[in-house]
Amino acid sequence: MYYAESTHPAIIAKEVFHAAQALLQQRAKREALPRNTSPFDQKIFCGLCGTSFRKKVSHGKLFWTCRKHSRDAQSCPVTQVPDTEIREAFLRFYYKLNHHRDIILTPMLNSLQSILQRRMLWSENIMELNHQISELSSQNQMLATLKEQGLIDPDIFISQSNELTQELRAAKQMLAGYQHPCFGHEAVPLHGEAGAS
Ligand SMILES: [Zn+2]
Repeated sequence: MYYAESTHPAIIAKEVFHAAQALLQQRAKREALPRNTSPFDQKIFCGLCGTSFRKKVSHGKLFWTCRKHSRDAQSCPVTQVPDTEIREAFLRFYYKLNHHRDIILTPMLNSLQSILQRRMLWSENIMELNHQISELSSQNQMLATLKEQGLIDPDIFISQSNELTQELRAAKQMLAGYQHPCFGHEAVPLHGEAGAS
């Protein structure tokens, strides 16, 4: 951007010019950053030690190396991998997945969607049960208050109280069942049609 100090009248105000310059510089700095990034950043992990791989330039070539190995070669024997090999492996894998998407990706997507749907139903059931539990608890409390004030026949109190306690126990048990980590988990079928066995 060009700014002439002595021209009159000024094309743009001095303050605006400097503010724009500062903005442009900031933007240039921000845009310069992604040049150093790779789509594989934080995506590659060492098959042996599990540490994430980091980029490393050696003799003008880009490599990926296990962080543990790069800190101390004795602690992990996995050596550096050229970026070109990683790219080729990724493309091979992408091609295979895309080529066989009818038997891998589509059934997997369908299974994931049905799992998600079931999860949503569970959470609705869990909300409903929580609501039921709080309703039953407040009914129980009301019953106790009525009894305290002598407004209810002792026999009726006992039968009502037993009924409520049983319902409350059943609701709590059901809730515990829904919240159990094993509930509803199924293996995702990766081959053939979903549901076929
Ligand atoms: Zn490693």
